[in-house]
Amino acid sequence: MVESYDVIVIGGGPAGYPAAIRAGQHGLSVACIDDWKNADGSHAFGGTCLNAGCIPSKALLESSELYQRARTEFSTHGIDVGAVGLDLGRMQARKNGIVKASTQGIQALFKAAKVVGLAGHGTLLPGLKVDYTAPDGTHTVLSARSIVLAAGSSPAALRTVPFDGERVLDSWGALDMTQVPKTLGIIGAGVIGLELGSVWRRLGAEVVVLEALDGFLPMADGQVAKEAHKQLLKQGLDIKLGAKVDSAEVTADGVTLAYSDGGGAHRLAVERLVVSIGRRPRTEGLLAEGTGVVLDARGFVEVDEHCRTAVPGVFAVGDCVRGPMLAHKGKEEGVMVADLIAGHFGEVNYRLIPSVIYTHPEMAWVGQTEEQVKGSGRPYKVGVFPFMASGRARAMESSAGFTKIIAATDDDEILGVHVIGPMAGELIAEAVLAMEYSASTEDLQRTMHAHPTLSEALHEAALAADKKAIDFPNR
Ligand code: FAD
Ligand code: NAD
Repeated sequence: MVESYDVIVIGGGPAGYPAAIRAGQHGLSVACIDDWKNADGSHAFGGTCLNAGCIPSKALLESSELYQRARTEFSTHGIDVGAVGLDLGRMQARKNGIVKASTQGIQALFKAAKVVGLAGHGTLLPGLKVDYTAPDGTHTVLSARSIVLAAGSSPAALRTVPFDGERVLDSWGALDMTQVPKTLGIIGAGVIGLELGSVWRRLGAEVVVLEALDGFLPMADGQVAKEAHKQLLKQGLDIKLGAKVDSAEVTADGVTLAYSDGGGAHRLAVERLVVSIGRRPRTEGLLAEGTGVVLDARGFVEVDEHCRTAVPGVFAVGDCVRGPMLAHKGKEEGVMVADLIAGHFGEVNYRLIPSVIYTHPEMAWVGQTEEQVKGSGRPYKVGVFPFMASGRARAMESSAGFTKIIAATDDDEILGVHVIGPMAGELIAEAVLAMEYSASTEDLQRTMHAHPTLSEALHEAALAADKKAIDFPNR
């Protein structure tokens, strides 16, 4: 094994592995150290996202949605399938297969980019060195010209109900359940709570979500959050806002929670409980004494807008630094850093990070919410187009929701785009590209969109901003 590299990346998740690959593409010698451990003790690159996050959750969201549609919607299409059965074992096996194929794919990508993948733990030492602990416990000191910290994050626990892997689960445990619980409690109505709550609700569990805040999805545009709340309640997710967990007791049969909300004190008994109250940077064990890298009060590595730490040559990217904990944000940071290390231009546009919540209907947005624009004092106009008026959405039996474009009144600049409805996560890409190129609503209005597609709903929202919508009455 080479003891010295141009670049060492610590962490092989969606922030670290792209950094390693891009550095390799630049012709640099690169090692990527990663200590992910699966339940069976095996190692896999890909971090939280591929092993226990984005990919397995989307696999189960897809399967559970098909199950739900087969049960409730197929007959509307004139398709009679008889009684629809659920084989959760096969559903989980399919998900596990997708995860395996994705994580193995990284090894092939490393090979193509000549990246040395090292299973094991990395600790940054002073002087651009890394202590690498192999799975057999042996230590090697490696050195590099540049080091990228991409240690990611881990689930935050609740002191009153610590994870036990049996009754009280984190998101990984919630993805791996082998039986549909009759009752499932979820603490936290954030992205994970809503996505995984949807999965298990569709598969038949009674799901109660306890959210501490009084407002629902405060990071989303208010109009989108209101519609999402309505739709999710309609699907049977019992979302209790302003709910504070006072105590919890784990029994042989489940978990009994005492919580209070505006309506007083309550008890809730559930077979299993998922705690999804956010994630914390995984920076413990990452830095030896005296490296000079600074952590903030919450444990995030402090970096500038180019992901440079306080130590020249040491960068940090992804969930272990400030900003939203999203795979695509980490990926862009990883690529930027590798480009900078190789002496090229690199930048991340932090104003245009798309957000997607993969519920049904899906939600996606980029830029400012209407509340933020209003707060900024800048005069603005809004165009909204309901999917109910989209022929394609109706044909898909998926006409709930709308597209919404917020633009400045003075120069027509698009300030925010919000979608709740079918394929929202795909539709938002057009908005991100438009905003990246500083498009106006007029630019979108004058861009031809194929018919009949869902993307016409964005076109019509742009037209609606100037009261020129064709397929829906202008207000
Ligand atoms: P991670 O993916 O956490 O990877 C870090 C890696 O570094 C891990 O393999 C870890 O074992 C390793 N590591 C840490 N410290 C060391 C060390 N000292 N030495 C060696 N190795 C180390 N984001 C989205 O954008 N879209 C989604 O749909 C989405 N869905 C999600 C669903 C769930 C259930 C969860 C939990 C998260 C989801 N996320 C999603 C968030 C996404 O997974 C994270 O933002 C992303 O994984 C962060 O990437 P990262 O590389 O910074 O960290
Ligand atoms: P989150 O921050 O999205 O939501 C946590 C929720 O828990 C918040 O609404 C918060 O108010 C609530 N909460 C906190 N403490 C509580 C308490 N004691 N009692 C009740 N409610 C409480 O976090 P998450 O859902 O755990 O997800 C973690 C991260 O993973 C997020 O940053 C998210 O970006 C990322 N993620 C992204 C996707 C996606 O992009 N589709 C999917 C899953 C996860």
